[in-house]
Amino acid sequence: YSEAPPTIRALVEASKAFGDRPLLVYEDESASYLAHYKAVSHFAHVLKDNFNVKPGDRVAIIMRNYPQWPVAFFAALSIGAIATPMNSWWTADELEYGLQNAGVKVAVIDPQIFERIREHLDRLPDLESVIIARETEEERNNPRVHNFEDFVGETNDWVKLRDVPLPDVSIMPDDDATLMYTSGTTGRPKGAVATNRAVISNFLNAMTCQARMFLRRGEAPPEPDLSEQRATLLAIPFFHATGAFAVLIPTLLRGDKIVSMYKWDASKALPIIENEKITTIGGVPAIAWQVLEHPDRDKYDLSSISVVSYGGAPSAPELVSTIKKRFPDAAPGNGWGMTETCATATLNIGEDYEHRPDSAGAPPLAVELKIVGPDGAALPPGEVGELWCKSPSNCRSYWNRPDATAETFKDGWVVTGDLARLDEEGFLYLVDRAKDMLIRGGENIYCIEVESALYDHPAVMDASVVGIPHKVLGEEVGAVVQLKPGKTVGEDELRAHVAQQLAAFKVPVEIQFQTDPLPRNANGKILKPELRERFQPRG
Ligand code: ATP
Ligand code: MG
Repeated sequence: YSEAPPTIRALVEASKAFGDRPLLVYEDESASYLAHYKAVSHFAHVLKDNFNVKPGDRVAIIMRNYPQWPVAFFAALSIGAIATPMNSWWTADELEYGLQNAGVKVAVIDPQIFERIREHLDRLPDLESVIIARETEEERNNPRVHNFEDFVGETNDWVKLRDVPLPDVSIMPDDDATLMYTSGTTGRPKGAVATNRAVISNFLNAMTCQARMFLRRGEAPPEPDLSEQRATLLAIPFFHATGAFAVLIPTLLRGDKIVSMYKWDASKALPIIENEKITTIGGVPAIAWQVLEHPDRDKYDLSSISVVSYGGAPSAPELVSTIKKRFPDAAPGNGWGMTETCATATLNIGEDYEHRPDSAGAPPLAVELKIVGPDGAALPPGEVGELWCKSPSNCRSYWNRPDATAETFKDGWVVTGDLARLDEEGFLYLVDRAKDMLIRGGENIYCIEVESALYDHPAVMDASVVGIPHKVLGEEVGAVVQLKPGKTVGEDELRAHVAQQLAAFKVPVEIQFQTDPLPRNANGKILKPELRERFQPRG
């Protein structure tokens, strides 16, 4: 395999090294490293020979966190196709947009997605084949629709498949590997293209972040202990950068395992954590909170948890002390990254994070960050401006979006759209999204600042701040707050709490309360447009 790209080398070598260890567990299905590898190599031949997939073709993967997801992903990579995960929460119209935008040739999907796009297939002439990845009675007479199990069989039988080597396809490290869509928080999702080298560099970034933490303390980084298998409860989707790059690939390279669920549900997660001896939970801050604050948490043995790590969305500094209180031996972790950086670009872990609970961490050795002012010049430490990131894991461009590519990808830098500052030691502090700032009567208000003041109240579980249109002032501050179970607080009391910390003009003029979780997209980000609609314009 001397010529194989690093992604495929990772797959092949890990499968050999960890053979019988479980890799994927889903309900009563499980696949060992070897079983997964056999399924990948079988499916790679199927894509290449039966479906004529050539290097550079886009193979979409649209399904829940089933064991077939990684199989389709690695099979596509191993024949030089561009693995194109899409959001399984998308509506039919959004799926049609994605499939068209990426020019997908073959889509590997689950039966629910098939139901959703069935009526749209006629408008997608370039989509030659649809492969339904789970058991289904579907359309055996439609020549475009096929069943994965007809070719590869059921998860628990993969281990019995014949040993076949991966197809012999020439792929270079700098060839395109993935096309991954952004969350669509600020507009229509954009597909970002990463090479094989970029995809694997996310893992190296995470490793050197950890090494740097030890070096900063004057200690040698410990050797990784691969003899003990860690288990991640996958609460976030495989189809976003964190799931694919920061969970799936590092899991494989460390010999760990992934336990996935049909749908995230904290009440169902607790018994899984106990039974599977889960060591790693998190993904996004909201999920960590739901486990930590769950009313039934003391009914289960959660002592196996040793890492609670998350990223992708702002988190309250108080999360760190809560983790330490509940799981004194666990390491908290927070990482900043974006789809365009293939996940991890900074990491704040362990003691570093306990000392700086409001930071997203320092960049790893190969990543450069800078803060850029309105005139395009880099700003000194402490000043807030737009964050730019140069990383070996940066994507090379967006797919089919020259306008957006020119705005975001500049000379090896990704222009992030995040407002941030760096301290003297290079630690990153996210302030807000450039687009998530309110301007009230000409005064800038960072939503996150007001959200942090709200979180800080003991009755508040979650909070989100949005602008309420105001005739004179432009915008006023509105907030939607989820209360902790059994807790209450009045609007005036909460306002007074915020006023103790922030200037009067930043205090929300209206606070709406709910006990249900705030609406979020698949990546755990709050759907602010939905919240904005709940407020009546003022003035
Ligand atoms: P779109 O680009 O389509 O509007 P998106 O930016 O939400 O959507 P992603 O690439 O999934 O899509 O998310 C990256 C963004 O998530 C970052 O730019 C940043 O705003 C936010 N983010 C990521 N990690 C953190 C973190 N640790 N703390 C705060 N915000 C974070
Ligand atoms: Mg973005």
